[in-house]
Amino acid sequence: ASPSIAVLGGGISGLSTAFHLARRFPVHSGTRITLVESSERLGGWMKSERVAVKDSVGQEANVVLESGPRTLRPASKAVLELVHLLGLKSSLLTVPRSAPAARNRFLHLPGTEGIVTIPGSPLLVLRSPLAKILVPAVLKDARKSTSVVLNNSSPDDESVDAFLTRHFGVEFARTFGSALVHGIYATDSRLLSIRSAFPVMCQLEERGNGSLVRGAVMDMLRNSRKSKSTAVEEQPYELGDIAELMRDVSVFSFQDGMQTLSDSVANQLQGLAHVEVMKGDRVVALNKSKSGNEFETITESGKRLLSSHIVSAMPLPHLHRLLSAPSVTHSSPGPLPHLLANPSSSVTVVNLVFPPTPHPIHPDGFGYLIPRPSTDYPASSLGMLGTVFDSCALPTQDRLLPSSSTSPPSSGFTKLTVILNGPYDAPSPAPSSPSFVQTLLDTLRRHLGRAEPLPEPSLVRIREHRDCIPIPTVGHTARMAELTGAVRERWGPNAAVIGAGVGGVSVGDCVESGRRAAYALRV
Ligand code: FAD
Repeated sequence: ASPSIAVLGGGISGLSTAFHLARRFPVHSGTRITLVESSERLGGWMKSERVAVKDSVGQEANVVLESGPRTLRPASKAVLELVHLLGLKSSLLTVPRSAPAARNRFLHLPGTEGIVTIPGSPLLVLRSPLAKILVPAVLKDARKSTSVVLNNSSPDDESVDAFLTRHFGVEFARTFGSALVHGIYATDSRLLSIRSAFPVMCQLEERGNGSLVRGAVMDMLRNSRKSKSTAVEEQPYELGDIAELMRDVSVFSFQDGMQTLSDSVANQLQGLAHVEVMKGDRVVALNKSKSGNEFETITESGKRLLSSHIVSAMPLPHLHRLLSAPSVTHSSPGPLPHLLANPSSSVTVVNLVFPPTPHPIHPDGFGYLIPRPSTDYPASSLGMLGTVFDSCALPTQDRLLPSSSTSPPSSGFTKLTVILNGPYDAPSPAPSSPSFVQTLLDTLRRHLGRAEPLPEPSLVRIREHRDCIPIPTVGHTARMAELTGAVRERWGPNAAVIGAGVGGVSVGDCVESGRRAAYALRV
């Protein structure tokens, strides 16, 4: 019989799964694909809005606000493939590697005023105030030998902080390692697994015989930087001319923001006769059918969906909840290990739009990150992790109104996104407090090294996201191998469990994991 496949969860992981399933099994194959999503919109954390803003003299602009992911890296072939297959080339906005937004990244050191440039070349290191941390760190690592190496065949793992301390010393790990982790995972680098979060560093360590610096130099000499994505062997990526277009690109997004990607996949799926998209209906239980050959998905509205195959692309704690629902105990497909092993970060995202000003509000660059506070460097009370200078990276995303062919390419408004509520303390004052915005603006002013106050923002948008980024803690890779083994053993070859909490949190990882699941299902 033709397979019927249920995909649970309509974030980018589930959308990518359904998209590739629909390509693998076209309408004439007789396959039925059903995507079930609890909320009324598809895309999960991918959420972009276009809103109108006005300055004090009535000048208006139309700006894109991101509350989830804001940029993509061209290293993910799976994402480039989606861009190609969905015909999104004309709405791409790219940041070249030579642009200030790609080259200039900053740190704000807690307890100090202003931001410092992270030096982008060895020559610049020597002139940087960060040289006193960077030079001894590089020398320490370069002297390292093979004594401890986390190689691919060893199950060992350690935290990002422990790994970087071993190579570069305590100060480097606290300053740079923690800041990097704040920018991606909004968590504490002492929790995060090096093997899961930065596998490339383990590879460099091995290649450099124990030294990351040697490994990186050897890599450069061999010019052998491999993309993180490796195609499912028998299924090469279809990239058209997109890969060529991305050759010198640092990061990219779309004219109307990241949601373009999830919306385009969703629209395509909704137009296919053999794909059913069920929105606004939560999966509440998952059973095996009486015959034991099919999966039975039960939704909140009472629908019972029988399928020969199943892919769960929902957050792991949600899957745990429905596997332990009372209604499934008699015919559950079987418990799975480690669904609750990892914590998740909660973050507050504040979009700020400032009116055009005669002098720039911030230096040109991608933005700045803030390292972990210490006894020497106390935290700001707001628990700020960093600020992204959005309008510097993607100035043409926002438009002056009324827009015409003679309008300038950028709106002139300055758009920033502040990320707060890290792993240490809840923001004080709380985001709901009337004094929050003023405290935030004062803190930003100090970080940006300005004597005078920031202008009155034209727009402030605060979003508090609970449990939005799963944290792969130490041992994650081994635990996920056990989880995948248990799915195969207990649920059979017709099932897969994927998503940001399993195979990596970046949009690229999520799209890749959906693609892999779609081609790996045995039919
Ligand atoms: P989700 O988006 O969580 O989707 C899971 C879906 O399952 C949801 O739609 C949910 O409603 C649904 N669901 C849950 N329970 C049920 C149920 N019982 N029944 C049916 N449906 C259910 N990545 C980048 O690459 N670049 C960035 O710049 C970046 N920035 C980020 C900034 C923020 C603030 C956040 C939160 C994330 C960011 N990420 C970034 C990470 C990336 O966006 C996410 O990891 C990714 O979108 C997760 O996709 P997912 O489909 O695995 O999970």
